[in-house]
Amino acid sequence: MIEYMLSQLNILENNEEESPILKSSLMEADKIHIAHEVKRFMDEMPGGFFIYHADGNEEIIYANKALLRIFMCDTMKEFRQLTGNSFRGLVHPEDLEEVEESIRDQIDKSQYDLDYVEYRIIRKDGAIRWLEDYGHFVRSKSSGDIFYVFVGDSTEKRERLLSERAALVYQSMAKEQELQALVEQYDKELKIIRQEHLQRLEVIEGLSINYDSIFYVNLDTDKIIPYRLSSQTGNLLEANLREKKFSQCIQSYADTWVYSEDYHMFLQVISPKEIREKLSKTKTFYINYRVFNGTEMQYIQVRIVNTGNSDNVSQFVMGFQRVDKEIQYEMEKKKVVEEALSRAQSANNVKNAFLSNMSHDMRTPLNAIFGFTTLAKMESGDREAVQSYLDQIEVSSRQLLRLIDDILELSWMESAQVDLLEEQYNLQDLLQDVCNEMMPQAQEKGIVLSLNFADTKHSSVYGDRARLNQVLKYIVNNGIKYTEYGGKVTVDVTEKEVLPNNYVVYEFKISDTGIGIEKEFLKHIFEPFEREKNSTLSGIHGAGLGLTIAKNIVDRMGGTIGVHSVVGQGSQFTVILRFQTEEGVMSCSGQDKISAGKVENRRILVAEDNEINREIETELLESLGLVVDTAEDGSIAVEKISGAAPGYYSLVLMDIQMPIMDGYQATRTIRRFQDPKLASIPIVALSANAMEKDIRMAHESGMNAHVAKPFDLDNLAEVISKFIPEIQ
Ligand code: ADP
Repeated sequence: MIEYMLSQLNILENNEEESPILKSSLMEADKIHIAHEVKRFMDEMPGGFFIYHADGNEEIIYANKALLRIFMCDTMKEFRQLTGNSFRGLVHPEDLEEVEESIRDQIDKSQYDLDYVEYRIIRKDGAIRWLEDYGHFVRSKSSGDIFYVFVGDSTEKRERLLSERAALVYQSMAKEQELQALVEQYDKELKIIRQEHLQRLEVIEGLSINYDSIFYVNLDTDKIIPYRLSSQTGNLLEANLREKKFSQCIQSYADTWVYSEDYHMFLQVISPKEIREKLSKTKTFYINYRVFNGTEMQYIQVRIVNTGNSDNVSQFVMGFQRVDKEIQYEMEKKKVVEEALSRAQSANNVKNAFLSNMSHDMRTPLNAIFGFTTLAKMESGDREAVQSYLDQIEVSSRQLLRLIDDILELSWMESAQVDLLEEQYNLQDLLQDVCNEMMPQAQEKGIVLSLNFADTKHSSVYGDRARLNQVLKYIVNNGIKYTEYGGKVTVDVTEKEVLPNNYVVYEFKISDTGIGIEKEFLKHIFEPFEREKNSTLSGIHGAGLGLTIAKNIVDRMGGTIGVHSVVGQGSQFTVILRFQTEEGVMSCSGQDKISAGKVENRRILVAEDNEINREIETELLESLGLVVDTAEDGSIAVEKISGAAPGYYSLVLMDIQMPIMDGYQATRTIRRFQDPKLASIPIVALSANAMEKDIRMAHESGMNAHVAKPFDLDNLAEVISKFIPEIQ
């Protein structure tokens, strides 16, 4: 077909060159006519049509009128001028390369050598228009390779399409915007919800800060959901939570952890029935219970808070917290109150028992004193009988004195810090003294009192001799008191251990074959006023204070005191003490002894404000052969000493409580005298102020010894003899 059309165009071309009248024959005229008809057909085609060579300059062989119209060209000449009569000149230079490549590509791939491209052209009026190009590649025998192409102006269509697409894009953009707005709105709402949720959580956290494990429980569904689990209380519940059912979980928790004493209470209070009932009346309640984890007891509090309505209780929150401190505090408080109460009660009991014992124990010697005094008064001539009554009075007085001394001693010990003396003494001597002192009492009961002071190397020790003497005397005295006639009391002393720095440990064992002590009573034996039997029952006098004082002293010495006893067989008291030792002979208080001489030459100054006492003391001292001078108070004593020649007075017996100047002050003044001989005169306190502190203060003020009032003449003589040996 295209070959035919090309041939028709050729015919027309050739006939235009020569005169048609001359050359044309009839046949020729027909051909030309047909060619014209073909050309006219092509020219009049409504769409643009053109043919161009596929090689070289791509010269346009034919272009129809419609194509010329597209380019706004009136003649072919104008078209040729505009396009250079080539396909390359026809296409907009910017699109050319791409268009040619696309055509080549399509032809290569197309089975029918067809292509479709769109490109821009520049019209004669300069307007840029879009063309649609449907091309067909043809190999022509007559004209070589050609393209014939149908084109149409697609500018409007394209613009329409573009505007439609733009409208669509706009529409979809609007939709997208709408959607975006919706998403944003949704995001905003979500954020608010999240914030509210967070705030709610914070409120829950804040309110539940005290509870380290928190659970949500729904009783209707029997569900338990942990909200927070702590290592403190949660780990105990954690294993049980696998059950997920509240009732099972609580049961297995109670079985595993809850302390047996609290088990039933816990299960009862945490039962759904009880919870429903309680929460219908109150918003919240709690219980405390104990958990034993194998090593320690923990105190836990569980609080239950209703989160639903109170008419039909079903949901609640359960918070656990350890409350060891609070409960312990509460329990301790309770214990303290209970203890105080029981102490008050037992103190009251002890006091009552003590008072009734005391009144008995005091009345007995007082009775004797009164009784024997009456008898003595009634006796007119029998001096021996009077003497015997007076002896009885003396024994009872001593008993009474001992009782008063013990009570005062104990109350002093309990109320103040007692300082122990550090003096050097010989332990063996001390023990011998104790036994000698106790011997008459033992002999009276036919008791064999023996002392075994086994191989000791360090008998010279430092310590408070008087206090140890007191301790041993109390124990030996008890041994004698609580042993029947014919029994035995033995004092065994052993050097147990020698420690570095000249320290040595001694054990004092005082055993008796007496009545023994009940096991139950042994626990209380060192407590004040405790006696297994009162004086009426036992017939033995005592206040139940001796062992208390002994233990007190031993404690203060840093030692121990223990007792072992079998009822009916006897008792054994063991005292263990540590002493600092120094070998050698003890000197007499370090004081200069007065040089030997006749006792009648020894003058004593008695400083005493009480006239009767002054008289008694003067008489008794004179009975020792001493010359006695007196002073009514401390200042007179100071005056007398300072005015006397050194050695004029051999010793001063100094009362402590005196008007104008007391004994301590007077002693301090004398000790400051310039004359060393006068200043070092022996001064012995003779005072009713006989407690530990008084003795210490006497020593501190510079006195050499202390003798308590009422005094025993022998004892006083013994003390004086340390300074005036001639009186012995
Ligand atoms: P007291 O002897 O004045 O009653 P103590 O404090 O010395 O007070 O002793 C307390 C109690 O201990 C005595 O009442 C007595 O019951 C018991 N006791 C002490 N020593 C002995 C002992 N060697 N044998 C038996 N009982 C003793």
